[in-house]
Amino acid sequence: MKKQVYIAYTGGTIGMSKTPDGYAPAPGYLKTQMSLMPELRDAAMPDYTLHKYDVLLDSSNMMPDDWFRIARDIADNYEKYDGFIVLHGTDTMAYTASVLPFMLRGLGKPVIITGSQIPLCEIRNDARENLITGLIIAANSKIPEVCLYFGNKLLRGCRSVKVSADGFDAFASPNFPALGVAGVGIDINRDLILPPPPETVPLTVQQFNEPTVGTLRLFPGISSLVVSNMLQPPLRGLVLGTYGVGNGPDQDRHLIAVLKEATDRGVVIVNCTQCLEGSVSMGDYVAGSVLARAGVISGFDMTIEAALAKLFYLFSTGYSSEEVKKEMQKSLCGELTLPI
Ligand code: ASP
Repeated sequence: MKKQVYIAYTGGTIGMSKTPDGYAPAPGYLKTQMSLMPELRDAAMPDYTLHKYDVLLDSSNMMPDDWFRIARDIADNYEKYDGFIVLHGTDTMAYTASVLPFMLRGLGKPVIITGSQIPLCEIRNDARENLITGLIIAANSKIPEVCLYFGNKLLRGCRSVKVSADGFDAFASPNFPALGVAGVGIDINRDLILPPPPETVPLTVQQFNEPTVGTLRLFPGISSLVVSNMLQPPLRGLVLGTYGVGNGPDQDRHLIAVLKEATDRGVVIVNCTQCLEGSVSMGDYVAGSVLARAGVISGFDMTIEAALAKLFYLFSTGYSSEEVKKEMQKSLCGELTLPI
């Protein structure tokens, strides 16, 4: 029996065509392009079902309800397929790849998010390879995780970031090795793959509430008033992009007081470094310890996308601020490395 893969086509460059204003999603276009690919009918390829979403998005328009629609769609088709592909624009692909592992609780099959920098309709494109290899991995790998496949690399979704606006090697996972690499063969590093959930655990989908979370990147001279405004209700959780190993301007007493006042009110402030690689370690410098004393908690080596997704998820489950803080310090789906 051929393997069966479900493709959720949400939009993105992969299926776009040229308009006078630049590339835009075109309904029906991807289906036609795929039907013209003899490779997809090869005996080595799985059968697939292409489900085009009613509104195809440039992923810059992706909203939490769209994440939920994707997760629901996977759950509704879960039993019938061996694996899933989510075709998605690259701009917010790392956000969706970070959110879905938290939304899809008890996932035991591969969910592979991919797309391309050049549409399938162009002569030179990266869409063909991403699609074909993505389909093979979704069908055969049995990886019980949400992954991002792009530019020959298979990455854990909640570790991925977009690192290039125009290169084919557009995604990286700076704080975790690639789960797999596609070269002459497709090599999966099985030691890195999360264990599957017990068979008795069903797949459930966690919907996210209205966003009461946000991100803010520090910069030299940032105004404490601006930070204070950001920290007002309804905000409940903030990912603070700090310098180096988690440092901030400890000499700015107003700014530190604003952070402390917010954490005292129960706002969860998570310290994530602006650096692409490495972990937060707030005890290394006074400029970090002061943040910890103001009630800011460590985001360790989480990406900003993953920390935001996790705050979204934890607040949506109804946890109190104290519980959210506690859960933020654990790895829930492989999104962080705890210091030894
Ligand atoms: N703007 C596009 C999107 O994110 C870019 C892409 O798909 O590469 O939908």
